[in-house]
Amino acid sequence: MDSLKQRILQEGIVVSDQLLRVDSFLNHQVDPPLLLEMGREFAARFRDAGITKVITVESSGISIGFAMALDLNVPMVFVRKKKTVIMDQDAYVARVPSFTKGIVTDLAIAKKYLSAEDTVVLVDDFIANGDAALAIIKIVEESGAKLAGVGIAIEKLFQAGGNAIREQGIRVESLVQIRSMSAGKIEFA
Ligand code: 5GP
Repeated sequence: MDSLKQRILQEGIVVSDQLLRVDSFLNHQVDPPLLLEMGREFAARFRDAGITKVITVESSGISIGFAMALDLNVPMVFVRKKKTVIMDQDAYVARVPSFTKGIVTDLAIAKKYLSAEDTVVLVDDFIANGDAALAIIKIVEESGAKLAGVGIAIEKLFQAGGNAIREQGIRVESLVQIRSMSAGKIEFA
């Protein structure tokens, strides 16, 4: 997706060779036309997959998930991040380390919004080590819903997450793939 690549090159801040900030259009301020275009692109790639719900993670996944769900005309459900959930009979919960915050978070989704009748796609802004995505994939499995695939806006290929999911036989669609960010320079695949 060239428009997203251009925005990353123009506005992305390479914080380290592992971490990219795109606060000006995705992670803090949101650019609606760009997000709608990203949503349409994801929707086009999964149009024939029989999606009944788009799953994403708060907070930065919401604008992408919303845009995709709007185009597919299905609901979007976002996974909530909680400090720690003691036990919740009404929710599926999975514990993950946070890539950007260095803390452990519980991801939770109410059981009433995910069931064995659903075919879902998981979308998120970035994939790094894949911990968040793999935890949500477990939640989807536990619910009995069918997972059509995973959509990632910005995949960092030098971190293992995307390929770890592909190795499980799960379809992964990325809008852009970054091969390297060493010496502050972004190189796309
Ligand atoms: P993972 O669980 O794959 O290691 O990390 C995924 C989550 O960490 C994403 O949902 C995203 O919020 C955050 N993340 C990972 N890498 C980056 C990055 O380079 N920049 C930003 N802004 N967030 C990231």
